This record gives sequence, C-alpha cells and structure tokens, in this order.
Amino acid sequence: MQQFQQYIGGAFSDGAAQFDSIDPATGKVWAKMPEAQREDVNAAVEAAEAAFYGADWASLTASARGKLLLKLADLIAENATRLAELETRDTGKIIRETSAQIAYVAEYYRYYAGLADKIEGAHLPIDKPDMEVWLRREPVGVVAAIVPWNSQLFLSAVKIGPALAAGCTVVLKASEEGPAPMLEFARIFDQAGFPRGVLNVITGFGPDCGAVLTSHPKVAHVAFTGGPETARHVVRNSAENLASTSLELGGKSPFIVFEDADLASAVNAQVSGIFAASGQSCVAGSRLVISNRIKDAFLACLKEKAEAVVIGAPDDMATEVGPLCTQKQVQNAEALVKASKQAGATVLTGGTAIDRDGFYFPPTIIDCSSAPDAPGLSQEFFGPVLSVVGFDTEAEALEIANSTEFGLASGVFTKDLTRAHRMIRGIRSGIVWVNTYRAVSPIAPFGGHGLSGHGREGGLQAALDYTKIKTVWLRTSDDPIPDPFVMR
Ligand code: NAD
Repeated sequence: MQQFQQYIGGAFSDGAAQFDSIDPATGKVWAKMPEAQREDVNAAVEAAEAAFYGADWASLTASARGKLLLKLADLIAENATRLAELETRDTGKIIRETSAQIAYVAEYYRYYAGLADKIEGAHLPIDKPDMEVWLRREPVGVVAAIVPWNSQLFLSAVKIGPALAAGCTVVLKASEEGPAPMLEFARIFDQAGFPRGVLNVITGFGPDCGAVLTSHPKVAHVAFTGGPETARHVVRNSAENLASTSLELGGKSPFIVFEDADLASAVNAQVSGIFAASGQSCVAGSRLVISNRIKDAFLACLKEKAEAVVIGAPDDMATEVGPLCTQKQVQNAEALVKASKQAGATVLTGGTAIDRDGFYFPPTIIDCSSAPDAPGLSQEFFGPVLSVVGFDTEAEALEIANSTEFGLASGVFTKDLTRAHRMIRGIRSGIVWVNTYRAVSPIAPFGGHGLSGHGREGGLQAALDYTKIKTVWLRTSDDPIPDPFVMR
C-alpha cells in the first residue's frame, strides 16, 4: 500500500498518525495518508512564519519570486500526467478532466509568476508641504489555504499562486477525501528551489486539523474553498486571530435558456455544465431555467444525451462520467432526489445509485416545474443532478434565477443582444456566462456572493488581496521641527 507524506518546513514525514484513503472507483482502501495532529499544524505554521520573516524569502526580489513560480509551473507541466493519475485515483475525477485541468494549472502559476513584480504601491499627492507620502504593498503574512476534494490542484493554485507572488507564505490543508495529488504536488514544489517553509502541505480532518489551522494566532489570512456550513466554522475560528478570509463556497447556479437560443449549443453546454466532474463542481449549472416554449423538445434532447453518457472507471479515457468521491455524496444525491419527488418533482432519468462497486450515481434530470419547494431547486447536490423549471416571460426567468441564497455563477443562452444585457444586469451572481458555460482563465476573477462566499480568485485582484498597505510619511524639510510647547 502506498504511503504519502506531509511536507513541513521543507521536510517530508509520515506524521504521528495516518488514515486510509479510499479509491472511489472500487470503494477500497488504496493508500495511507498522514493525519495532521495539532503539533503538525503548529509546526507547519511555525515553519511558514519563520520563512515569511527569514531573509531567504523576505529579501528575495519580486522578480526572483516570479522566476521561482515559473520554475514551479514548468515542473507541474512536466509532471502533469502523474499528478492527473493521482487525482483520478484518489478522488474519482475522470482522467480526461484531470489531464486537461492540470495542464492548465501550470498556466495559473505562469500568470502569477508574471504578476509578482507588477504588484505596485502608489505615491499620494499629499495636501501638505515638504512631505512625501507613498503606499507600500506588503504581503499579509502566513496564509492558511483549505481546499475541498474536487479539483484540488486547481483550487490550490488560485491560492498558492497569488499568495506567493505577493510574498506571503502558505500552509495548505488538503482535503481528507483524496489528498494524494496535493501531497505529490509538495514533492514537485520542493524541486522548484523555494526557501524551506514557504509552502507547507498537510492533510487531515476538518474539525481537528482544519480548526487548529484556521484559529492559529500566527495565521493572517484564511483562503477557504468548501461548503457554506464549514465556512461558518472557518469564519468563527479565524475570528480568534481576527484573520481576514476569502471564501469560495457552493452554488445553485441557474442555466437559463430562451426560445431563440442555439439549442444544440445550449444542450451541449448544459450537459457539460452539470455532468462534468460528475456534477462535483461549485459552478455546476444545476438549475435549468427553460422557456416553456421549447422545454419539451430541449428536455427530450438532454435526456437522450444523459442516457448515452459513458459511465465507467475514472482512469479510462473513454469514460465521460465517473464515480462520486465518497459514498456519502451518493447517499446525499439519492436523498435529495427522493425528497424532491415527495415535493412533487418528476424524475426524467436517473435518480438512484448504480449497482456496482464504487460510488457511482447516474446523470439525473428532475423536472421541478410543478414543485417550487423541491429541495432540488434550492440545495446543492454536488452530484450529477439537474433540476429543471420552466418559465413564460423574461421577468419570470430572472425571478427564478435569483431565487437562491447562492450567487456564484449563471448561464444565459439567447441570441437577443439587448435581452442578454438585461439579464447580465439583473442576475445576482459573481460570474455570468452568455452563450457559453464553465469558461475559466487565470486572467479572469472568479467568486460569488451570498452563500457562495466573498473575495475573488484569479486575476490581479486575487494577488492584491494577499497584500496589506503600509502608508509611509517622509518629511523632506531640513528645518527643525518647532517645539510644540513654545507659543509663537
Ligand atoms: P467541506 O466544506 O466539507 O470541506 C472543505 C475543506 O474544509 C476540507 O479540506 C475539510 O477538511 C475542511 N474543513 C472541514 N471542517 C473544517 C473546519 N471546522 N475548519 C477548517 N476546515 C474544515 O466541503 P466539501 O464537501 O469537501 O466540498 C464541497 C463543497 O465545496 C461544495 O459546497 C462546493 O460547492 C464547494 N466548492 C466551491 C468551489 C468554489 O470555488 N466556489 C470550488 C469547489 C468546491
């Protein structure tokens, strides 16, 4: 059985405790992972703090930091196959997706490598004579980065990349569900030549090691991706140290299709919008909001595609939908479909777990048009389940789209330009995709509001969020400062 190691202060170790990692394709244990204990978390934060103030990192120029990030990007690209295989093995995400995604992860590091020496301060035209005032942008300090199981290399890149570009140091806690790719990433990071302790990678259970990490007094910022309920714990814990937070949480994103849309494109975008990554994607277009004028034809086409999807082993290049990451996810999907049925929804296809080894759930479509209270319309499945609701007017479409506590992403399919603009203005979500879905780039900020969190990952803003401003006042006059107690 493979044994993975944690990475603290530039050294690899098994850790005092270990836990079993399960292969979602078989449901069987395949590797041992280090389970970070309080002392491991403390050691990781201490190492990150020592690195933050240490000359090897603190006195490195921003351009030199950028060069290290570039080297890391090259190493990721060179090792992409191995990283993809490990992510597929440990999380069940299909190899087609992990291969493509990890190749692109290298681009995120390249983008932040380029940004490192473009994070500028400012000079202020101050309203006082003989005074120079400027703003220095300095790194916030030690960053605690926490990621969920899906797309860990990607979700960590959008934290580690900007944090290191800004000059911070990082303790990354990988998900206990499939940490192998992050622990392997630590080995690759180690070869890039960063000073010891700049990045530390640990893994373990949220309420234990996650809570110790987020409440640690030496952590300045917590960058969290996960569910809203966990985010509440994270915010409460980070309040101990008044650390700042950025939260990338879940979604119940509307995928809105008007009758004038290019239907073939919309169907394909909806299929990948909900069934890619077996629906375990924060931006999954999990609510199809569809014009009643085309609803039946659209659903017939979608159902046909959903039923033709190749379900199989995640390491098979032919597989289009693989297993979910955990048995709990399968049970969760089944329970939500059942509750939606009880609320009046109709299951058009799928709906029950597939009877085979591993954690398989089929592409599922449920029509909730006559079941407005169905949990399928309000709760995140984080699985391959699409909830459908029809509309008659544009105003109704907008109202349905916004009837969610989440606000991460949305899709609008229409050829009507003015209508597209009205929808863009009206939709309450951090991302709007028009006649496309799921496009991402290191250059474009990503994030939501409401129960989908706050803060942005990707783009320049993400790097600025890992900095704090220091205001410098410098008096340029050689005249003596008068004694304030002598009246004149
Ligand atoms: P989760 O919230 O259960 O766990 C996420 C991470 O938080 C894990 O590493 C876990 O160990 C850790 N954690 C758990 N309890 C903790 C605590 N008390 N203190 C600190 N850390 C703790 O999420 P999940 O079920 O693993 O992932 C699914 C969720 O993540 C979904 O809601 C999904 O939408 C969301 N997600 C969001 C994005 C985004 O970018 N917006 C991306 C992917 C996933």
